[in-house]
Amino acid sequence: MVKHMGYDCIVVGAGTGGTTTARTLAMKDYKVLLIDKKKKEAVGDKVCGDAIGKHHFDTLNKLIGLRYPTKEECEANIDGIDVISPDKETILKITGEGVKGYMINRLKFGQRLLDATIDTGVEFLDNTSVISPIYDGDFVAGVLTRSSVSGEKKEIRGQVVIDASGVTAVVRRKLRNSNIERNVQNEDVIICFREIRDLTQEIDDLNYCKIYLTQSIAPGGYVWVFPEGAKRVNVGLGVQNTPNNPHPRQQLYENVLSDPLFEGSKVVHKGGGIVPTRRPIWSQVANGLLIVGDAACQVNPIHGGGIGPSMMGGYLAATTVDQALEKGDLSERGLWDYNVNYMKGYGAKQAGLDIFRLFLQLTPDAEMNYGMKHRLLKEEDILNASLGEDLVLNLTEKVKRLFSGIGKLGLLNRLRKISTKMQEIKGLFQNYPSPEQFEVWKSEVESVYEDTWKILD
Ligand SMILES: Cc1cc2nc3c(=O)[nH]c(=O)nc-3n(C[C@H](O)[C@H](O)[C@H](O)COP(=O)(O)OP(=O)(O)OC[C@H]3O[C@@H](n4cnc5c(N)ncnc54)[C@H](O)[C@@H]3O)c2cc1C
Repeated sequence: MVKHMGYDCIVVGAGTGGTTTARTLAMKDYKVLLIDKKKKEAVGDKVCGDAIGKHHFDTLNKLIGLRYPTKEECEANIDGIDVISPDKETILKITGEGVKGYMINRLKFGQRLLDATIDTGVEFLDNTSVISPIYDGDFVAGVLTRSSVSGEKKEIRGQVVIDASGVTAVVRRKLRNSNIERNVQNEDVIICFREIRDLTQEIDDLNYCKIYLTQSIAPGGYVWVFPEGAKRVNVGLGVQNTPNNPHPRQQLYENVLSDPLFEGSKVVHKGGGIVPTRRPIWSQVANGLLIVGDAACQVNPIHGGGIGPSMMGGYLAATTVDQALEKGDLSERGLWDYNVNYMKGYGAKQAGLDIFRLFLQLTPDAEMNYGMKHRLLKEEDILNASLGEDLVLNLTEKVKRLFSGIGKLGLLNRLRKISTKMQEIKGLFQNYPSPEQFEVWKSEVESVYEDTWKILD
């Protein structure tokens, strides 16, 4: 076992979250080591829907000078999203500044983020898997690594470790006692299979991402067809990770790729992936440790978008580390502001959407068809909810009559109650507690979930 010189900060994982964290820290002149198990040229090569909202760039450009996607990185500009009902009879066309975005080439984008990070002075160690955290007393003091080239194991020490290892959450899963949950429930995870395909024909709408809601084909998840050029699409399917659910690859092949659109098409890239789709983990800090990105479940629970949140999480984590290093306090308490800052912003939005996610997962196709057809939720409601604003139902007498007459009052009432729970949980996350109040706050959050389960039962 070889011992290594110490760093100020060790970042595990060079994805979108890890590179943003490492770069922000290096911009503040810290000695940063970034570690990834992949070889350098493969960093960023991830199975993904490749869609990212412009607003993430607007924010991060101001904060750390993150450049907007270049022409080479951008496969298509996105103006909106079509949300399609299970029977395909209703299409909600969601447009507006909040949903404008890009389809990016994930590898090129990832490589650009990595290069920009290395350019700020970050030391990068590739082909190296982190195996576990190492401890000094009850503080995380570094990581144990293994080189995939030589097989050599090393202990690398740093004042603070940031776990940005994505859904594998390699450090989080091996933590000793802390307020961080080591495991995430299977039901809070979506397993996906997706392909990028070259088509023989041009697609209809080059600037719209299509999301198909269908419990029968994609139980607990959805089907997506996103444009990556006139004749190229990113097509995938995700299902909730519960024991009886079908395999997403089989569902994609049998129910989606059988569509005439894909006749004669060729696969450019394919693979499976996992997305955590829930509220953020309870706490994202422990003594000497912070967690960023998918490892902290910083993903939009409705559509699974996590590139933007992971970069924002990385920025916030780095800012807290900077202050904690200045004060010389890397304890859980010294790092707690990261929890507060993340939760009162994107975390609160995620928590509200997590409740809405449970509603969507437990609404049968027939009810969804009816609700969408009769605009129980209108385009602007969905846009506002997805942007983290409150879900306000403007129910006219006509809508109420329509739903009560046809025996769908249950759906309407459920949605009304769910929107209240969404507001409650958002309020709790916006007022994230001090370490002393943490257990009380947790039980308040749990009680909102208990109410939600009763509503959806
Ligand atoms: C099928 C699918 C579709 C998606 N579609 C979209 C989408 O359209 N838009 C969107 O915004 N998000 C999407 N997401 C989610 C998005 O990809 C993630 O939320 C985002 O990549 C999170 O970034 P991250 O930095 O946390 O993790 P990652 O980008 O996964 O990076 C983690 C890094 O850690 C490294 N690593 C892992 N384990 C170790 C270890 N033990 N030691 C060292 N290094 C390690 C990995 O090699 C990787 O480079 C999708 C995800 C999936 C699976």
